[in-house]
Amino acid sequence: MRDSIEEAQFETIKNILIEVLKECSSQEEYWGIQNHHPEKWMNILMEEVGEASKAVLESFPFQGDQKESNKRYWISEYRDELIQVAAVAISAIDSLDRNEGKETKNGK
Ligand SMILES: [Mg+2]
Repeated sequence: MRDSIEEAQFETIKNILIEVLKECSSQEEYWGIQNHHPEKWMNILMEEVGEASKAVLESFPFQGDQKESNKRYWISEYRDELIQVAAVAISAIDSLDRNEGKETKNGK
């Protein structure tokens, strides 16, 4: 991967992935290791996508004349939600890989 990406872009992506992995860790600290059925993972992922969408759409009417502080706030909220989307997607893949061919471990 590194051969095909410029060094600066690689560093940017690496830093984003570090943020996503920190979010994965904090979700695991809060919830424990999650072994959900794929349908439940999709519910969780879509909830996070919805929160990212809400962060943008609720701010949209104000974009024309919004104060700089409001703009920074919604961008920060949107970005945080995107990190959560990525973290949930990774956790869903991790769960799938752990449980492939098995029943979910917690029965949810
Ligand atoms: Mg969220």
